Amino acid sequence: MPQVPYNPVLAGQPALVTGANSGIGKSVAIGLAKAGADVVVNYVTEPEAAEAVVQEITNMGRRAIALKADVSREDEVEKMFADAIAHFGTLHIVVSNAGLQRDSAYDEMTLEQWNTVIGVNLTGQFLCTRAATREFKRRGVVPSVSKAAGKIICMSSVHQVIPWGGHANYAASKGGVMQLMRSIAQELAPHFIRVNSIGPGAIRTPINTAAWQTPEAYGDLMTLVPYKRIGEPDDIAQAAVWLASEAADYVTGATLFVDGGMTLYPGFATGG
Ligand code: NAD
Repeated sequence: MPQVPYNPVLAGQPALVTGANSGIGKSVAIGLAKAGADVVVNYVTEPEAAEAVVQEITNMGRRAIALKADVSREDEVEKMFADAIAHFGTLHIVVSNAGLQRDSAYDEMTLEQWNTVIGVNLTGQFLCTRAATREFKRRGVVPSVSKAAGKIICMSSVHQVIPWGGHANYAASKGGVMQLMRSIAQELAPHFIRVNSIGPGAIRTPINTAAWQTPEAYGDLMTLVPYKRIGEPDDIAQAAVWLASEAADYVTGATLFVDGGMTLYPGFATGG
């Protein structure tokens, strides 16, 4: 795909991205840096992959640091934000991206599978967006940097609205993210904190390799995608940069679906 260049619209705005050593989070971290941000690269496993992202960002002349934290653990999230703020002075952008799947037929789903997915995908969003809110409220608006006191972007999914059999824990977590995001957007708007979500469709990352790796799987996937291509992580990074930028200053409480039309009920294209 032709690469779309990034404009330096986020210069001077330190950002934190969770789950930033793989897939969408990695691309978002690099995209924010291309747009001028300094970046905290959160990871929980594979530190060398996080260091590679840090290296790629510092090679662009931006600052970056890798910080380990399990987003489902309060103590680790609190320490990560304290370390990030100590390092960069403050944060202006937080992308709560870390997520996982533990798929199962519903009657066979274990409580551990349920709790793991809710713990990372929903409680993790609570812990990270709460920590971001505390810093944004403490610091307030810095007019020379941004009209907003801070920007929160939650990585949701088309499955905040599309039910997903065999993945009830995941769909429930993303439905929860939708109302978490909308509720805190409503509460925090008077503090000039903007809160939005991105709802990716099928994006080419390790989380869903089985859905795109073989021509048969890719063909099946395309029956769900009116735009007839899989999404690339950079499609999401471009959306994140726009949502974090001043161009989106009047946007809060929104979910931006970046899904090639997956939420358009493609099965009805021929009349239903
Ligand atoms: P991925 O597996 O490549 O990346 C997930 C990242 O989250 C990894 O860096 C992983 O280490 C991290 N992570 C997992 N548990 C963590 C924890 N406890 N603490 C900190 N980090 C943790 O998958 P991805 O596709 O890049 O997924 C990123 C986000 O995008 C997820 O929230 C996912 O639900 C969402 N999403 C992905 C797609 C897609 O098609 N790829 C579609 C919709 C939504």
